[in-house]
Amino acid sequence: MIIAVDFDGILCDNEFPEIGKPHYEMIAAVREAIDCGHEVILWTSRVDERLSEAVVWCADRGLRFTSINDNAPSNKQKYEHLYPNGTRKVYADIYIDDHNLFFIRANFVLKSEYFNKPALAAAEQLRRVINEKG
Ligand SMILES: [Mg+2]
Repeated sequence: MIIAVDFDGILCDNEFPEIGKPHYEMIAAVREAIDCGHEVILWTSRVDERLSEAVVWCADRGLRFTSINDNAPSNKQKYEHLYPNGTRKVYADIYIDDHNLFFIRANFVLKSEYFNKPALAAAEQLRRVINEKG
């Protein structure tokens, strides 16, 4: 499975352009996804020095991504004959972003305590999906 993970507001508090406080539950859930062999993309609007800072911050917390703001290797290989120059949209089976409107499983009950904590809700969702798909 390909999972695209936003940085600000998901892996940490959104204090852009600074890096906010870490969201430990989300970091742990993403690490679990990586350890399970999923292709996890860091999907962020950060560029240049701000992106480098975020990548280092993630690596310090054990998050080593398959790709950064780019398609996963498996996806590139599968579609390079159609898109030799890549695509502007990064493809993922799941996108985790603090601006999501809907959550990815209809049976997910959004608990009231999560309304201002999208990263906690996303961590729970991600673990649920990993457990479903193995
Ligand atoms: Mg965000």
